[in-house]
Amino acid sequence: MNYAIIGAGIGGLTTALAFQRKGIAYQVYERFPKLSPVGAGIWLSPNALQVLEHLELLEEVKQQGNSIDRITIGKPDLSPISDIPQNLIKQRFGYSAIAIHRAKLQKLLLDKIPKEKVHLGKAFESFSDEGAQLSLNFSDGSGARTDFLIGADGIKSRVRNQLFPDSQIRYSGQTCWRGVADIELDSAFDNRVYELWGNQVRFGFSRISKAKYYWFAVALDAPNAKDDQAAVQQKLLSMFRGFDSTVIALLKATPTDKIIRGDLNDLKPMKKWYEAKVCLIGDAGHATTPNMGQGGAQAIEDAYYLSHFIQNASAPDAFRMFQDKRQKKVNAIVNQSWMTGKVAHWKYGRGLRNLIMASVPKGMMNKKVIEMYEIEKFETVS
Ligand SMILES: Cc1cc2nc3c(=O)[nH]c(=O)nc-3n(C[C@H](O)[C@H](O)[C@H](O)COP(=O)(O)OP(=O)(O)OC[C@H]3O[C@@H](n4cnc5c(N)ncnc54)[C@H](O)[C@@H]3O)c2cc1C
Repeated sequence: MNYAIIGAGIGGLTTALAFQRKGIAYQVYERFPKLSPVGAGIWLSPNALQVLEHLELLEEVKQQGNSIDRITIGKPDLSPISDIPQNLIKQRFGYSAIAIHRAKLQKLLLDKIPKEKVHLGKAFESFSDEGAQLSLNFSDGSGARTDFLIGADGIKSRVRNQLFPDSQIRYSGQTCWRGVADIELDSAFDNRVYELWGNQVRFGFSRISKAKYYWFAVALDAPNAKDDQAAVQQKLLSMFRGFDSTVIALLKATPTDKIIRGDLNDLKPMKKWYEAKVCLIGDAGHATTPNMGQGGAQAIEDAYYLSHFIQNASAPDAFRMFQDKRQKKVNAIVNQSWMTGKVAHWKYGRGLRNLIMASVPKGMMNKKVIEMYEIEKFETVS
């Protein structure tokens, strides 16, 4: 049985690697002729890292990324609202989150997959069921045949649009700028994540490697609003002028043409992620706002479970088992992340919000987070 994976993002590539390790036949089709991931940095939480460990990729991720020992939600002057050392997480899993450049993560995954299985410049258009097999159509007029189809083509998934045309992308009301600053800060910042909550704006940052810091900035705006790229750095400097000098230094150390912007959307949770021979994973099936840093991690978890079920049952039964295993956890994350985004941008009662945040016992927070990071253990492959 052959599986076609549409999309060579984090979800598609991790699925390809998991299939490779388990001897499941697959081909990957990616619309871009070259893989150049946007989005600067990413935090890989321990659930994602356990999957990467299972796929024997963890050591390289550790070497190329930066370990996070402390996560602080703070005020614009860096003073903490909630400050969580990651010791308990480290004790439980052997590591805490790792911050890494997206391009490095993608390359690490890609390098482990045989070149001939990744078809670049193949923009998926549609599929049709020809009885014995599915026929795939690409925008360059070419086609391919497959037994099963995995839609890993992100939040605007064409696979999903054909399968479930009523699915709904929701705009959170928030837009996000991201960048990588070529800068070294005081060593006190080395292994920390900061997210600073101001007056309906927030700014997060962490070191991803030597002399490189990933940052993001979030503000309320109308959907699809655009910037004058030449002035975007200046715009952000003005938006965050009351913030700690570290924030200003990070913005100044990022060339304006390298700052990227994207609206924060998610996908209204769907009842089904599969139908007959087609299954959705990652953002294609359950995109979430990034407020819990879990979208990529959930795509990676999808790869882990889907490959396990496919190894042990044939599709579509394997797709049903995958959905049954994953849906409750993923929907809870989507909903919690949506709420967190709203709280972070509260207009009124920010003092009260901060007080509530500060009074949540650390033990309780750690317990919830550890639950989210747990994955079911399967035997190591390869
Ligand atoms: C601001 C921000 C910060 C984030 N931070 C984090 C974080 O710290 N940690 C975390 O875990 N997650 C984070 N996320 C979420 C994470 O980026 C996504 O959940 C993750 O990238 C989803 O992976 P994916 O493979 O499902 O989709 P994508 O990464 O969107 O990949 C989809 C791939 O499919 C390709 N494709 C699309 N259409 C077609 C087509 N028609 N034919 C062929 N190929 C196609 C695309 O080119 C792309 O390569 C963040 C998201 C945002 C917006």
